[in-house]
Amino acid sequence: MQIPNQRLKNQTCIVTGSSSGIGKAVAKSLGLEGANMVVNYHSGKKEAEEVADWINNESRCGSAIAIKCDVSSEKDVKEMFKKTISHFGTVDVCVANAGIQIDHPLHEMPLKAWQKVIDVNLTGQFLCAREALKEFLRRGMRKEVSKSLGKIIHMSSVHEEIPWAGHANYAASKGALLMLMESICQAYAHKKIRCNSIAPGAIKTDINKEVWVDEKEKKELLKLIPYKRIGIPEDIGSVACWLASDESEYVNGTTIFVDGGMTCYPGFSTNG
Ligand code: NAD
Repeated sequence: MQIPNQRLKNQTCIVTGSSSGIGKAVAKSLGLEGANMVVNYHSGKKEAEEVADWINNESRCGSAIAIKCDVSSEKDVKEMFKKTISHFGTVDVCVANAGIQIDHPLHEMPLKAWQKVIDVNLTGQFLCAREALKEFLRRGMRKEVSKSLGKIIHMSSVHEEIPWAGHANYAASKGALLMLMESICQAYAHKKIRCNSIAPGAIKTDINKEVWVDEKEKKELLKLIPYKRIGIPEDIGSVACWLASDESEYVNGTTIFVDGGMTCYPGFSTNG
């Protein structure tokens, strides 16, 4: 296995929802960069422990623990930060990744389905960002590990830009994340805090399994991707490492689209 540059050595990173999919790949990639990792899970205890074990045993780089926390619960999020700080000393990077989809046509969407998606995808990211900001400001600069006071990375989606019929709760949560991320940057950049988003396109994970296991649906999906391949979680892991590291020091308040060109509206490539 190729061990990367240890760009995150002696930094502590929390990745929410990292027992599966994109979060899992992000946690492993950050671990390979030498970070101390908190692998957060909501329901997948065994899977989260496997990710933490992999970082501890296989990566030969960072050190990791798994912590249970429902990101939509203020009490749980505060507890997760408390445990992290007591175990590793501080938090340097927070990747607010946990997210869900509960799909309904809007005129039939139960309030519960609207609220649950907003609670996890938006309020959960707010709660994690708030606790991260508090910790960055409390701890002060650690010039020996990073040029920034701290880094927040929100896992957004191409649907912060592309409307999504039948998924309005999800699209609304991701659209709102854009303003959350930019407002954090505006307020805290002068403190040397960086806040950015990653907006994945279609990435092969459990969240969209029904699309990529079905050949007909997969073919339709590929029409939306100019690069003609469905993304893999590691495509996001490498971007998260770069955003968390000093290599991207001057990148702040922006969304990096990792989507094979999906946001270039390929439907218009033949003049619409
Ligand atoms: P996934 O279902 O594998 O991952 C979501 C994770 O969030 C799971 O581990 C789940 O247990 C966790 N989670 C759910 N509710 C939680 C809660 N209340 N508290 C803590 N954790 C909770 O799917 P994924 O594709 O890896 O999704 C990760 C993120 O990427 C989400 O924010 C999603 O919106 C975003 N995203 C995914 C895609 C894609 O194509 N896969 C595209 C754009 C954006």
